[in-house]
Amino acid sequence: MSVLKKSPWIYHAHAGGCNGCDIELLACMGPRYDLERLGIKWVSSPRYADILLVTGPVPLHTKPFLERVYAQTPEPKRVIAMGACGCSCGVFIDDENYSIAGPVEKIIPVDVKIPGCPPKPEAIIDGILKVLNKM
Ligand code: SF4
Repeated sequence: MSVLKKSPWIYHAHAGGCNGCDIELLACMGPRYDLERLGIKWVSSPRYADILLVTGPVPLHTKPFLERVYAQTPEPKRVIAMGACGCSCGVFIDDENYSIAGPVEKIIPVDVKIPGCPPKPEAIIDGILKVLNKM
């Protein structure tokens, strides 16, 4: 097993959305689920990350931010799109929505999707394990 699989570092990029997904991510960091005890660490810069976890749909004004963050994440990198918004724009889906650039996969390549609005911590952990199997 590679070092990346044993102790992946994750950068959370909030592209948009209502923050419901972000609250569930906080639950993953808290004492009940405490992903750090399994070696999964959240980092404050994409330059340190192995995995980019993106929440929310991608509004036009954060599209350049997401492209830059993706470019700053070193190879080999993996991307998780989290929540109905990250997977398919969720409640923001509308062909005539002037402010949404699209779901995450329209902007950057996505390896794993975690559906749900918002996904439970168990689903988030399952998604992280799925992306680890792709590393
Ligand atoms: S998927 Fe649901 S909880 Fe998550 S950002 Fe979108 S609306 Fe909010």
